[in-house]
Amino acid sequence: MSERKKVLGVYGAASSHWVGDGFPVRTVFPTSGMEELSPFLMLDYAGPAHFGPSNRPRGVDEHPHRGFETVTISYQGSVDHRDSGGNSGTINPGDVQWMTAASGVVHEEKHGKEFTAKGGDFEMVQLWVNLPAAHKMSKPRYQALASASIPRVELGTGAYARIIAGELNGVKGPAKTFTPVNVFDVRLGANARGELSLPAGQNSAIVLLRGEVVVNGAATLKGTAQAAPLSTSGETVLLEAKAESLVLVLGGEPINEPVASYGPFVMNTQAELRQAFEDYRAGKMGRV
Ligand code: MN
Repeated sequence: MSERKKVLGVYGAASSHWVGDGFPVRTVFPTSGMEELSPFLMLDYAGPAHFGPSNRPRGVDEHPHRGFETVTISYQGSVDHRDSGGNSGTINPGDVQWMTAASGVVHEEKHGKEFTAKGGDFEMVQLWVNLPAAHKMSKPRYQALASASIPRVELGTGAYARIIAGELNGVKGPAKTFTPVNVFDVRLGANARGELSLPAGQNSAIVLLRGEVVVNGAATLKGTAQAAPLSTSGETVLLEAKAESLVLVLGGEPINEPVASYGPFVMNTQAELRQAFEDYRAGKMGRV
């Protein structure tokens, strides 16, 4: 019989702040008490928020990234993306964009045109995944993962997981990653339950975006933007929903290397951060 992972604590997000004028986010981690979850650097949960019709797309104007990956998951509403690699696309509900900034990408993130014109409910996640030193200066990569390409694993009546990255019960997600990473979009109806296998030895966490779930019959996550990191020991976790719930399950092999980060750059040393600023200012990361 496999052992359950232990819940190491329950942490709530800090208060909401705006990223650009389009993303009212709460940072689920890092927060005081949950400073890190290597290889994951940061998780922002945007919304749910209602936007009225507008003729000007809200969002974030062009800005750089280097040294890691940004993963954008749409739940409601849409985001238009354009970057210095010539990539562009719209992230619609159910879609995921996995962007490897690596040596440097400049991009803009705006509400989708149709969403902007019509208005509506907006709910999004952006997750930052660190890269090992050996890949921080690799060529940038862009993966547009359409909703239909993300397989689903039934966890029980009224509960399923969409496998964005990694593997659950032999079902593999479409995202290519540089280190072993699991990202599961888990949906549970009220009173649904599901047990998931997560490898021992990896860092992992249950993130409640909204709803109410009891983890391993012990810890309750309720409301919005709550995270429960789990022990590296053990191989399973049990989720029991008390209300309809939206959960993100994260797991991955820790990258045991120094982290030097400032704003949109995440490197290993201060000297590499200074180089990143210089390269950006010199236009070496390109333009949108
Ligand atoms: Mn960005």
